[in-house]
Order: sequence, then structure tokens, then C-alpha cells
Amino acid sequence: MPDRFARAVVADAQGRIFDHPTLALLGWDGEAWRQPADTELIALPKGSDLFVLPGRIPYALDLRHQEAVEVEGDADTGILQTVAAFVAPAYARLLHPAYDTRPDAPELTLYAYTAVGWKNGRFVVPAVRVDADPRQDPYRFDMRLVQTGVDLLRAAHPDNRAIAHVEHCALVYHCRAAQNFFLGRWEAPMPAATQCNAACVGCISDQSGSSFAANHDRIQVASRAQDLIELACLHLARVPNGVVSFGQGCEGEPLLQPKVLEETVAGIRARTQAGIVNLNSNASLPRIVARLADAGLDSIRISLNSARPALYHAYYKPRGYEFRHVVQSLDEMKARGKYVSLNYFVFPGVSDTRAEIEALCALLDRGVDLVQLRNLNIDPELYLRVLPDDAVREPLGVLALIAELRQRYPKLRFGYFNPPRTRMGRAGPTPQGRAAAAA
Ligand code: SF4
Repeated sequence: MPDRFARAVVADAQGRIFDHPTLALLGWDGEAWRQPADTELIALPKGSDLFVLPGRIPYALDLRHQEAVEVEGDADTGILQTVAAFVAPAYARLLHPAYDTRPDAPELTLYAYTAVGWKNGRFVVPAVRVDADPRQDPYRFDMRLVQTGVDLLRAAHPDNRAIAHVEHCALVYHCRAAQNFFLGRWEAPMPAATQCNAACVGCISDQSGSSFAANHDRIQVASRAQDLIELACLHLARVPNGVVSFGQGCEGEPLLQPKVLEETVAGIRARTQAGIVNLNSNASLPRIVARLADAGLDSIRISLNSARPALYHAYYKPRGYEFRHVVQSLDEMKARGKYVSLNYFVFPGVSDTRAEIEALCALLDRGVDLVQLRNLNIDPELYLRVLPDDAVREPLGVLALIAELRQRYPKLRFGYFNPPRTRMGRAGPTPQGRAAAAA
């Protein structure tokens, strides 16, 4: 007999996870707790993780009385704890977990916490796959092959500092872009910068002064152009339809290394027309962006938590720039016919509000080609504490957000990863177009 509803999943005092026999799964839309619709639930994607959230009292739905109730333990289980899922790359979460936080609870580390339930013999989550590209599906990474790739490239390029750094990322942080470089496929990283001109509340490489750790150690030594050129050309020689990208999780803001970046882009394009040279960035310095585009940069991925300047400033805490400069960088790229993606940090309750959708559409009207829907990795209550009070107002649902954008921008692409040239459609650069621009 199939289950009529998804049951709540909790953990006992020892962290053992189990499904509740009668209570139904509740999620939090950023404003209120609600039961996920069946259309919002999918099987927990392979490669996802489950977390037990310290000091968070789980709540679930008592279907008979139609009320939210605390999920209480007993002498065997002890005090119950909330369980959340961290969904695999390429999936956007639709609801946060439903819980109440104890006053002495620690802040949560930098992950995107998703509600999780149990239905028909498996874990289910309110989420949606937003990119079919398999490049970061966790089960596609054979670490023995990664190690072989590391050994071969380290032996062939012992003095290349960038390859040595990316080796650390592949083997220690398990960075998928770094691992793909050593596996000779898809997208490779070109980490360049140690400093940043923003201080994002959820920065994954610098949490000095916070009660929780960053996910990565910030790169300590800025890369040299010759090392990055060699790394990129190695990759594009093996993966002609590949992508090489500045701006990785382990670094600051690449635009603060304008000379290295300009030399690297020009150096790569002087050697090969293959693939895509991309910049992941906070796009804070439009004049540098323009120079890089003129030097041969093909695409930019602009990171933002919101298209509303007040919310952007509250999260990014920019130093020496403002949201309007980010918009100018977008315009500089589009004025040169380049490809622009938004690295849009989706947060149910903030991203799916009327005010946010209208602000986002004003940005899309400037010619954005692709919206990468990425889950914001942060303690949800910490995030809402730093945002203005009106940030959350009558959330419409993340599925409704995506549907409305699809309807208003039929040509707009959605995804999770930086596309290779073959997936850019007519918006993408061509070797001929690039040669003409260089002439
Ligand atoms: S822009 Fe990037 S590197 Fe800079 S503070 Fe934000 S997350 Fe960190």
C-alpha cells in the first residue's frame, strides 16, 4: 500500500535517524511552516547528505488535528533533533526544515538545509533538478583516477603553483571542478585571488571572527599568469568543448588581480580558440570586466543573493563598490556580445517574493543569458537576521518563481553550471566571432 503522505524524519539524542510513525513532514517557506505538496517532493538525490541540526527542536504535522506539533521523544530516544538534507549539486531546494531553535544552540555551518521526509520506503525532499548536466554528480568521481591524474600532471608540471594548489583542492576539499581538471573533463578551475572587496555573511572561504568555520581555507598565494595559462591550455587541449574558470570557492575576488587575469586571458587566446574562458565573480569592478572582455573573456557568472540593492548590501557588505557597479559590469559584457550568467543564490522566502521577482526581472531585462539557481549555504535564521525586515513577504514558492521567469523570458536558460560553448546556443561566442573581435 503506497504511503498517503511523507512522514517526518528526526534523529534521537545519539543522532540515529528514523521516520516518525504518524506525524507528517513539515517544511518552512521562510515565512510559515507548511506541508510540501506531492508535486514538490522528489526522492533524495544520490550523493546528497543528511545532517542532524544541533539544538533545533523538530516540528511536524498532526494530520488529524491539522496542527504543527513538536516531535517529542521518549526514554529510549531522549530529546529528538531536527534532520535536514544537503541536496546534491544541480538541485534547487524548495523548503527549509521546520524547527524551533533553543536559545543556547550554536549557529549552523555553511550548508543549504532542506526539509526531509520518508515516503514509500525512501527519503524524500522538496527540491527540483535545475541542470541535467552530470558534471558534479558525486558518484561519477573515482578518486583512484583522480589520483592518477594528479600524479601524471604533478610529474609533468612540478613547478606549476596553480596545478599544485588545484591538486590540494581535489584531494583535500574534494572540489569537483579541481577533480574534473585531473580527470580531463568538463570545467577546470583557475584560482587566482587571495583578497576580496566584499565580506559576505556566508563566505565559504573566509569566516574569520565567526562562530563557525568556512568550508575552504582561502588560497594564500596569488597565482601567476604563466601557471594559469599552462593549466588552462592543458585542459582545453584535452577538452576542446571545455570551460576554464576564474573565481572558485577557495579564493577571494579575481577582479582584484586584474593584471594576472588580463595576461592569462590574452595568453590563453593567443594559444587556443578552444572552449570557454569564464569568470565567476562578484562583478564589482566594471572597468576591469570591460578590459577582460576586450582581452578575450567569453563569459561571466555574476554572484548575487538578491537583485534588491538593500538585500545585496546587507549580505555582501561590499567595500568600495555598490550594487550599481555590478549592474554596470553586466552591461559591459553584454555591450561586447559576451555571455552572462547569474549565480543566483536561491533562498525560499526571499527569492520567491513579488518584490524580489520584479527586481530580478529588471536585471534580466538587461540581457542575462542564463540563471544558475544555486542554494544559499547559510544558517537560515542568521541570514534573515542580517536582511532588512521586509525581505520576506508572502513567498510564492520556488517552483512558482521558476515558472514565472520561464513564462516572462522564454529564451532565458536555467541551470546550475557554467555552460560549454555547445550549450550557449546563439548567445555564445564563436571562434570566428572571437577572431573578428580580436582583429
Ligand atoms: S565575494 Fe566571494 S570571496 Fe568575496 S566575501 Fe563574498 S563569497 Fe567571499
